[in-house]
Amino acid sequence: MTSFKSGGKISFLSQWQINELSRHFTEPDRTAMPHELAIKLKINYSDALTIISLLETEGLSNNLLLIYHNCQEAPVDTLPFGAGFPNLPWKCPNCEVIVEDGRELSYDLMAKAPEPIEFF
Ligand SMILES: [Zn+2]
Repeated sequence: MTSFKSGGKISFLSQWQINELSRHFTEPDRTAMPHELAIKLKINYSDALTIISLLETEGLSNNLLLIYHNCQEAPVDTLPFGAGFPNLPWKCPNCEVIVEDGRELSYDLMAKAPEPIEFF
């Protein structure tokens, strides 16, 4: 169990939301996506993004950029978040189409926390 002593960095969360966050990360290898946290904690998307960024800054998660192509609903690839976006042209590992138009791709962010986290 690792502890996230926020030092006020998540002071925009209520005690209930902080407890929900701890509950979400009770098990090892939990993941979180911004829209998922936004719904679970009843917060807006940008606050959810802030939480996910903080997790990585604090060394509690590895954040991934999920890459979506129009060939399937699930992500077709991931990159470490912060490594930038795929360079075009880019070959989709799922359908093997060479993507030249970046509008065929979309992205999301996922935090992966190897250890359970307790938030204070
Ligand atoms: Zn594809």
